[in-house]
Amino acid sequence: MKVLVLNCGSSSIKYQFFDTVQKIALAKGIVERIGMSGAVLNHSRYDGDSVSIVGEILDHTVAIEYVLAVMLSKNHGVIEDKEDIDAVGHRVVHGGEAFTGSVLMTPEVLKVLQDNVELAPLHNPPNIKGIQAVTRVLSDTPQVGVFDTAFHSHMEPHAFLYGIPYELYKRYKIRRYGFHGTSHRFVSQIAADQMGRPLNELKIVTAHLGNGCSMAAVNKGISVDTSMGFTPLEGLLMGTRSGDIDTSIILYIMGKEGLSLSEANTLLNKHSGLTGISGTSSDMREVIDAMKEGNKRSKYAFDIFNYRIKKYVGAYAAAMGGIDALVFTGGIGENSVDVRTAVCDGLEFLGLEIDTEKNERKEIDLSKEGSRAKVLRIPTNEELVIALDTAEIVGEK
Ligand code: ADP
Repeated sequence: MKVLVLNCGSSSIKYQFFDTVQKIALAKGIVERIGMSGAVLNHSRYDGDSVSIVGEILDHTVAIEYVLAVMLSKNHGVIEDKEDIDAVGHRVVHGGEAFTGSVLMTPEVLKVLQDNVELAPLHNPPNIKGIQAVTRVLSDTPQVGVFDTAFHSHMEPHAFLYGIPYELYKRYKIRRYGFHGTSHRFVSQIAADQMGRPLNELKIVTAHLGNGCSMAAVNKGISVDTSMGFTPLEGLLMGTRSGDIDTSIILYIMGKEGLSLSEANTLLNKHSGLTGISGTSSDMREVIDAMKEGNKRSKYAFDIFNYRIKKYVGAYAAAMGGIDALVFTGGIGENSVDVRTAVCDGLEFLGLEIDTEKNERKEIDLSKEGSRAKVLRIPTNEELVIALDTAEIVGEK
């Protein structure tokens, strides 16, 4: 089956076009600056051919039309007819409590997504726009929603409830949802394959470390806990997000600095994390470079980042009663030798022993010979999961 995977943001659309039998991307690209001047589509094909198209891309519908036009084009295309797209899979950030797995898009599902907009005010509206745009442009092509939250939807109340009045959970659905679920699901399965053991026998801690960072405790294939919560703000230190914080601090700063709700939100989501502490950058490479040049604040940022991950490894090993593997993924997890080294330093008591040379060579299995638990580096591929889920659901239709 040929599946177009879309990740629709407020002013951008990332896409990949998959052959789900061969599990390869035939084309991929991004439309940026939708609705602004200087909108551009950058498209590349599996054979290395690439093209940049500048245009007046006023909204998501026009953006999808541009994507289709380039996919159909003689010089840069990969299909001959619109009908060659068998299905469209959407990354949808928030499924709320309604979705425990990927679903075929119907007017009823779209309505539930619209009802969930308050839970993800930044992410769900552009996801919905993308679904509506595809309906306009590709009318009858089936669409599937794959939710960032779904993999975590089997958490027990003791893991997902917060210590606030229970009525607030009932009234406003305030609970831990977790995000990056598609990535945690994918890498935990690949980890089991790599270990040659069934997933349903394993206790795996997954660390997705990108611009946003989260961890999950995956016990027998089920996410039993995860570090992001009601929103993606909670948990690990991230590029620009604070992660865990004593909530009183927010009230205190709001009082001291006279911040509005929205300014406080921006402070915690955009000016905190690696950026806020280092004063250098939200980009881990730049933080590490500055640290190696002796910048003290960058060293604090690096140390806090790794220390938090380490604490969560311990917490999740305790939550699951053991650990068989620690998986690193995401831009930082896959690439940073320094982060993996610092996180694993001192975790030998859990049976996690990292091999320095394998770590530097960026192998998949980074564990020392004889290490009781595995340290793994597994590149994530959320788009492929979305394509495969879509093919499976549409195939069943
Ligand atoms: P996103 O969450 O936006 O998908 P990525 O998963 O691509 O982001 O991760 C981006 C992060 O990965 C950035 O902090 C970047 O510095 C980091 N990164 C990429 N390559 C390296 C590297 N070689 N060493 C350290 N960090 C890296």
